[in-house]
Formats: sequence, structure tokens, C-alpha cells
Amino acid sequence: MEEKQSRTVLVTGGNRGIGKGICLELARTGHDIILTYNHGKEEAENTVKDIATIGRKAEIMQIDLSKSQEIDDFTLKLTEKGIKLAGLVNNAGIYDGKPLQETDNRQWETTISLNLTAPFYLSRNLSRIITKGGSIVNIASVYGMRADPWAYGYQASKAALIHLTRGLAKELAPNIRVNAVAPGFVRTDMNRGGWESESFRGRINKATPMGRWGEPEDIGRAVAFLMDPLNNFITGHTMVIDGGIGL
Ligand code: NAD
Repeated sequence: MEEKQSRTVLVTGGNRGIGKGICLELARTGHDIILTYNHGKEEAENTVKDIATIGRKAEIMQIDLSKSQEIDDFTLKLTEKGIKLAGLVNNAGIYDGKPLQETDNRQWETTISLNLTAPFYLSRNLSRIITKGGSIVNIASVYGMRADPWAYGYQASKAALIHLTRGLAKELAPNIRVNAVAPGFVRTDMNRGGWESESFRGRINKATPMGRWGEPEDIGRAVAFLMDPLNNFITGHTMVIDGGIGL
């Protein structure tokens, strides 16, 4: 008997920022959502309310994704509940905007754990409960494709995530597609200092051919497109959503 297709997508870091934008767009395109958060329970609950307004179901789960034991416990919890997924969005991430000599071991290790190791562990564990025709989307960055003299853990983890996407796409085809989205500058708490500074905000507007910062929904729409089973010839691809800043 054919396995019934799930409509539930798990979004890591869905409480705020780009993760929230992804949750809302996926809800608008007919998905129920499980969203994870580390800190920010109230934000997560507000996202659930917004998803309910769209008419879809959502639940929240707390997890520190930089800890591998928590990822194993989390996987067990989902499996024991008998949850099946239509997809996984590896969105949670942190930015370590420091130059070389100011990047300590702990900062490097945390950045790599959260931005690269967690997406790998989650993809390995949860691909077992993603139904046929489902999809994984990894949130990378244009800084996984270009380099600047700072944020070494961030840039290296995002470049590796793009390449991990390709390998996973080959192994998991034809049942599960795996793609990435590489955003440019998006207005979230991660770079609040940047877009609140008039000069930096203006510099990015000028450097971006489309003349503006991205919004979480810009990224959400790309994720919903990649998640759509109608687009089932797209796998291993990284979609750059950056208003042209990386050109
Ligand atoms: P944000 O800081 O608003 O959100 C980060 C999310 O990660 C939060 O939901 C938080 O709960 C989660 N998180 C942080 N540490 C965690 C941990 N230890 N365990 C579990 N969850 C944790 O940032 P954002 O801008 O929304 O970023 C979301 C993703 O988009 C990140 O992967 C980021 O690298 C990527 N991105 C952002 C931009 C941008 O300009 N904002 C650009 C390119 C890529």
C-alpha cells in the first residue's frame, strides 16, 4: 500500500526572523508546521497564533541544536509520537562576525555545530520519517559563496552546507529532494545592528541591484517553491535570493 503523504513540515528556528517567514509561507501553501526554538518561547507561541490565523495547525518544540544529544532525544520524541514529515527546513543558525584573531575556539565550535552539524544530524535522522516525495531545504547564505575577512565559522559552515546539500540530494533521490536557499541581506534580529545603522543600511541598498534589503517572506516564498512537489525535478540546487548583491 502507498504511504500516505504528510503535509507537516518541521522548521528549525521558526520562532522569529527568516524561520518565521518560512513558517508563514509554508502555512499559506497548505502545510501544517512543527517549529523549533531555543530561546524565545513567546515568539514561538506568537508564530503558532499567526499560523492558526492562516488556517493551519502548528506546534512548538524547544531544542538547543548545538547539542548532539538533544538532537537524538528530539528525534526519538518525534519517532515515538509516530510523526511523519513532508519536509524539513534547516533554518536555525548563528553569525560569528569577528575577525580571525578574535574568533575563539568556542565561538568557532558553536557556529559549526549549529550551522553545519545540526543540519547534517537532522537530515540523517529525520529523512527516515519524511514521506516519499518530500523535501529538505537548507538555509545557507551568499556568504557560503563569496568570502570576506571575517565571520570564518559562518562562511565556512554555509559553504559546507551548500556542498552537503548536493551529496544528500544524490543519496536521498528519488524519494526526497534536497535543496538550499542562499539569502543576501535580510532584515532580521541577526543583523539588526546593520539595518538600524543609517549608513550601513544605505550601503547595502546601494550594493543591491534591487535597491532594498530582503524580508523574511522573500526567503519563505523560495522555500515554499522548492518544497512544492510540482517542482520535483529540482534537487541539489542552491537558489540565491539576494536582490542581486552577489552578482
Ligand atoms: P535570527 O537570529 O533572527 O534567528 C535565528 C534562529 O536560530 C532563531 O529562531 C533561534 O531560535 C535559532 N537558534 C539560534 N541558536 C540556536 C540553538 N543553539 N539551538 C536552536 N536554535 C537556535 O536570524 P535569521 O536572520 O532569521 O537567520 C535564519 C537563518 O538565515 C540562519 O541560518 C542565517 O544564517 C540565515 N541567513 C540570514 C541572513 C540575514 O541577512 N538575516 C542572510 C543569509 C542567511
